Amino acid sequence: MRSRDTFDKVMKQISRVREPGQSPEEPIDSLEGFVCDLCKDTKVKKEIIQCGFCGRWVCKEGCWDTEIRACESCTGLILLARSENDEE
Ligand SMILES: [Zn+2]
Ligand SMILES: [Zn+2]
Repeated sequence: MRSRDTFDKVMKQISRVREPGQSPEEPIDSLEGFVCDLCKDTKVKKEIIQCGFCGRWVCKEGCWDTEIRACESCTGLILLARSENDEE
């Protein structure tokens, strides 16, 4: 029931890197490739996903947490906010 609180709390702590829907960065030398905002690997479009918290485009394979549904960078903050709320 406190998920909304957690969300608000996390959003205050996370600085947005990109706006929702804003395209990922494309490497100059690749036609269908995009750069993961975290590990900087080049991926095809279906392998990257935009984090709803910070707006980063990250690779699903290495930098995305399917359980939390956030990038690795935001996952730590989300888990921390959740555990703090649980204690209240
Ligand atoms: Zn990555
Ligand atoms: Zn994120």
